[in-house]
Amino acid sequence: MSKHTKRVGFVGWRGMVGSVLMDRIRAEGGFGKYEPVFFSTSDAGGKGPSVGIDTPPLRDALSISELKTLDIIVSCQGGGYTNEIHPKLRADGFKGIWLDAASALRMKDSCVIVLDPVNRDVIEKGLNSGVRDFAGGNCTVSLMLMALSGLFKHGLIEWISSMTYQAASGAGAKNMIELAAQMARLTTAASTLLSNPASSALDIDRAVTAELRGNSIPTANFGAPLAASLIPWIDKQHEAGQTREEWKGAAETNKILNTTKTIPVDGVCVRVGAMRCHSQGLTIKMTKDAPLDEVTEIIKSANDWVKVVPNDKESTIKNLTPAAVSGTLNVPIGRIHKMNIGPEYIAAFTVGDQLLWGAAEPVRRMLEIALEQ
Ligand code: NAP
Repeated sequence: MSKHTKRVGFVGWRGMVGSVLMDRIRAEGGFGKYEPVFFSTSDAGGKGPSVGIDTPPLRDALSISELKTLDIIVSCQGGGYTNEIHPKLRADGFKGIWLDAASALRMKDSCVIVLDPVNRDVIEKGLNSGVRDFAGGNCTVSLMLMALSGLFKHGLIEWISSMTYQAASGAGAKNMIELAAQMARLTTAASTLLSNPASSALDIDRAVTAELRGNSIPTANFGAPLAASLIPWIDKQHEAGQTREEWKGAAETNKILNTTKTIPVDGVCVRVGAMRCHSQGLTIKMTKDAPLDEVTEIIKSANDWVKVVPNDKESTIKNLTPAAVSGTLNVPIGRIHKMNIGPEYIAAFTVGDQLLWGAAEPVRRMLEIALEQ
């Protein structure tokens, strides 16, 4: 089949990840390269996204016979959809590529987790050996690997402790809206005091804290206030005191890198009031006492997106924050320094847009790779 006539189905294109994926494909001129077919679980027959070319009405995302006609299916719909449809489709003989943003297939032997600047070799090996299921990785893991892939490639990492500061967007569209609504309530609670120059910081704090502890702040999605606070729990409970988000650190890192010996990755994952950038404070135990300038050079030459931020205040507050990074493909890493724990230990801090390199971008790039097959 000519590569120009491939039919690519998109399910979940209007969700958080899906809509960022649509933007990125449009920006890279991707829709001219194949025939896109848009699906919906809720609006079959409705209008698809505006992608610069005419597209037919939305197809039914639950129709196995429709899905089976495609060469490639890209799903950003969620794990529930994947768990329901993927097995039926494969059982019905679908031999095309299934490319997913959800975690449902990630840890299956039949699936490769994609992050091509880091594991293009693993992806190629998978394609060559007949793998047809591919999934984007967990956002925190993908962003950490984009920042540290040089050190992994050079065998310099013995273990990592990652303490995360994760954005509202990682929990989906409703949570982002809830965070903004919480901020608005706090602003309202403090606004009279803020407009009076005689108000003390303690008066304002009392008003904000009363609002945080009252019944009117919206918490239906997070279960607790996030604005002016934080929530040190993400996803379900796992084993041994970890959350599932924390468990993914080691599980997905080692699967993405296809390591022969497990590299431990662990820490505490915390939701903070950032909109769409995840940050991570890293403690890295290196396999040897490598000099800092060598470590820095290895980190910054690993890929086109990782940017080393000098370890000074001005560079850090300008370049190493969610406010600076949001909406960009840059993955800055800074605060790199040896720790006084010992010469093999370094600390670092990294920030990345979790909807771009954390979700949509690895999927978009894998689609390009799949189209070359
Ligand atoms: P989402 O925003 O909740 O969207 C998922 C689906 O919900 C949409 O495709 C849409 O399906 C439906 N939907 C219902 N009401 C909607 C509304 N008002 N606006 C938009 N969509 C609406 O989910 P997501 O955050 O994109 O996540 C999708 C998958 O990717 C999940 O498995 C998630 O775990 C994974 N993932 C997410 C992130 C992240 O940063 N959020 C990162 C990595 C992986 P219909 O059009 O068919 O109704």
